[in-house]
Amino acid sequence: MTTLTTLAYLVAASLFIVGLKRLASPRTARGGNRMASLGMFVAVVAALVSQGMLSPVELAAGLALGGAIGLWLARSTEMTSMPELVAAFNGFGGAASALVAGAEVLRAGGTPYREYTEAGETLTLVPDLGPADLAVVAVSVLIGAVTFSGSFVAWGKLRGRSLDSFPGIRLVSIAIALGVIAAAVLLTISGESGNPEMPPLLLAALAVGALLLGVVLVLPIGGADMPVVVALLNSYSGLAAAATGFVLGNVALVVSGALVGASGLILTRIMCDAMNRSLANVLLGGFGAEASSGGSASGAEEERPVRRTTPDDVAVMMSYSQRGYGLAVAQAQHECREMADLLADEGVEVVYAIHPVAGRMPGHMNVLLAEANVPYDQLVEAEEANPDFPQTDVVLVVGANDVVNPSAREDPESPIYGMPILNVDEAQQVIVLKRSMSTGYAGIQNPLFFKDNTQMLFGDAKASLKAIVEELKALQPA
Ligand code: NDP
Repeated sequence: MTTLTTLAYLVAASLFIVGLKRLASPRTARGGNRMASLGMFVAVVAALVSQGMLSPVELAAGLALGGAIGLWLARSTEMTSMPELVAAFNGFGGAASALVAGAEVLRAGGTPYREYTEAGETLTLVPDLGPADLAVVAVSVLIGAVTFSGSFVAWGKLRGRSLDSFPGIRLVSIAIALGVIAAAVLLTISGESGNPEMPPLLLAALAVGALLLGVVLVLPIGGADMPVVVALLNSYSGLAAAATGFVLGNVALVVSGALVGASGLILTRIMCDAMNRSLANVLLGGFGAEASSGGSASGAEEERPVRRTTPDDVAVMMSYSQRGYGLAVAQAQHECREMADLLADEGVEVVYAIHPVAGRMPGHMNVLLAEANVPYDQLVEAEEANPDFPQTDVVLVVGANDVVNPSAREDPESPIYGMPILNVDEAQQVIVLKRSMSTGYAGIQNPLFFKDNTQMLFGDAKASLKAIVEELKALQPA
């Protein structure tokens, strides 16, 4: 590796690290994203140029094609479909790592052995890849292939495809996992076997086994838990890339893979903590396996009376507002902003309280509200908002359900007991915007809807907010 290449990798690694740090705040996140992209550009160009693999024209054509596909995907994907896009990216990342690492074994005519003659008579087989190299290849192919197939099962589930589990799937998973581990161990020691056919065969067996493993591991997990699975697979794709970096001796790949691996794991942990669930509970199928947002019949059959309200009544008692997945589905962020602006004109203090797992991915609501140009200082976290609810006149819950369910605080039998929530029930008045009495993601009814200080405004959140905005405008002095 030349000094220039090393320097380029150092610049790329620095850009990744500073970019990642800047992603921690909505104010600096766009800049952070650009920095990390620039880092990836530097690393890719340095790697390809240093290997002399592509001509400048081929390099430019590849970058233009990949960039165009990325731009089209980013522009055409709805915000609510971002988890699917991330799942697909992870899948391709895992596949790329597995293919590159596997190609090292298949290089030089399908064998890791290089034949050479010494003193013109002895033919000796010398492994190109020693056991340590083959072990790293095995790790990369295993994790990369699991990530690929697992991510596409997650993608299918997020798109609402009915990918059903089957009885005994856990036992099948264990059997496949044992087979895959055996193939990985055999591949590691196959360099010493003296049979040049063995490593490619074991590589193929490992890849097929790992692809199956990815499918059977993700299949039994509830569709609604897929965002956590996607975060975990994101971490796996980083680990696969880091392993491939070791195989190729590419420092930039090791660094970027390790960063993705660690940050994906941290995100997984944050999501589990915010739901007060262990990773094992999510992976072994906690709740949400059957019910998805707005889904379960149990809620639809609820017959307890609730207090209904109307947009004109709501318009006169607004003060604070909340949001959740319904906001994302309804794409109602612009109406929300318009309503908040009208209220602020009237001297009402408006704050947007955001729960860390509101919506379908962390930061979902922050991104939507940023898109509607809501000032960052009006967005507050749950811990900051909770002490203020008792002094709040009106809380508007836009489409959220589980993240405002007081059972999490009060009912030890509830599946969401212990999950930190927004304590909106402590406010003077609560208005809930949703379409029906359907349950949210956890598939459980919400006692908030039946409290004396709660009124329900049924309908699509976007239409309801529009109606409230009209009423607010009508209330303003001409
Ligand atoms: P929920 O899924 O609990 O509830 C959303 C509610 O929005 C539904 O009850 C639905 O009711 C309503 N809704 C849907 N579309 C509309 C619409 N167009 N107009 C009005 N209302 C609508 O969302 P929460 O944000 O409260 O909770 C998120 C849940 O997701 C939590 O349980 C969390 O643990 C889980 N989760 C979150 C992750 C994340 O990273 N954010 C990751 C994994 C899980 P109706 O059908 O009656 O309209």
